[in-house]
Amino acid sequence: MALRLSHEILEIETAYPFGIARGTVQKYRRVWVRLTDEDGVEGWGEADPSYYYGETADTVVAALATLGTALPADPFDLEAAEARLAATLKYNPAARSALSAALHDLVGKRLGVPLWKLWGLDPAAAPPSDFTIGLDTLDVVRRKVREAAAYPILKIKVGTPDDRAVLQAVREETDKKIRVDANAGWTLKEALQRLPLLEEMGVELIEQPLAPDDLEGLRVLRSVSRLPIIADESCKTAADIPRLVGAVDGINIKLAKCGSLREALRMIAVARAHQMSVMIGCMMESSLGITAAAHLTPLVDYVDLDGAALLKHDPFRGASIEGGKVTLPTLPGLGVTQR
Ligand code: MG
Repeated sequence: MALRLSHEILEIETAYPFGIARGTVQKYRRVWVRLTDEDGVEGWGEADPSYYYGETADTVVAALATLGTALPADPFDLEAAEARLAATLKYNPAARSALSAALHDLVGKRLGVPLWKLWGLDPAAAPPSDFTIGLDTLDVVRRKVREAAAYPILKIKVGTPDDRAVLQAVREETDKKIRVDANAGWTLKEALQRLPLLEEMGVELIEQPLAPDDLEGLRVLRSVSRLPIIADESCKTAADIPRLVGAVDGINIKLAKCGSLREALRMIAVARAHQMSVMIGCMMESSLGITAAAHLTPLVDYVDLDGAALLKHDPFRGASIEGGKVTLPTLPGLGVTQR
């Protein structure tokens, strides 16, 4: 009755080198996880490890060897299964989230229903996704903005001394809605100095302006900012949310940070209980990882699921954000197929 676990390393590459305040990367190693039941039905998940959060494809593979001993006999035993996986390895959230996605995929396939339907959600309620413009030379930033013409909302990476020039270049190309993400790249002083610029540029929201643990700085910034502040690096799991109350306006949930689909649901519930807004985001991921997160989109205010849209080649077909519109698959489970 045991589930069989197998995995495969996927190499994905972005169309452009992807720059954020911490550095620039173009190639990523991801782990495609498969759970096969006794009838040969397969549940799929993707681990999208981030070095910043202490994981690589190699640590995921090592973690899977351990987590494989904690898999449920019955995939429908989701709550206990996720709790056991988290008790087996407290860290390694990307590895655990791949197994969580695979279990949910398997359950949906056994029942013959898409995951969003199992959760009682309406795909039409999903807000549009933004498309991210990474740090680059001003010419490349301009070109990327033009190439993203189909997307109604752009997320602009900031967090360097060039912020003004970057935002001005973007604004010379487009007047569409823009968000900024500093990836913890500013000090409080720098963030305060930039507020007038961000307002002048019509920025919709500010993601992770300060260092993850600078909650006092976030409180000060929020008290004077007219723009909402969203915590990303400051918020990994639901347990991080209560201490962020009053310091930020909302949180950015990523499966690779929180470790499971059910933890993501808990984060949404906890954030809502504190009147916080919710964004669902991603790492650089193929459509397999993106689709697992996309099933949560009807529950959130902001969608940032462009990971697969930024790739040169996507090995999977699943949820789409073409033109910014989130389209969820209608196939059972996650609804992902190989391209
Ligand atoms: Mg972010």
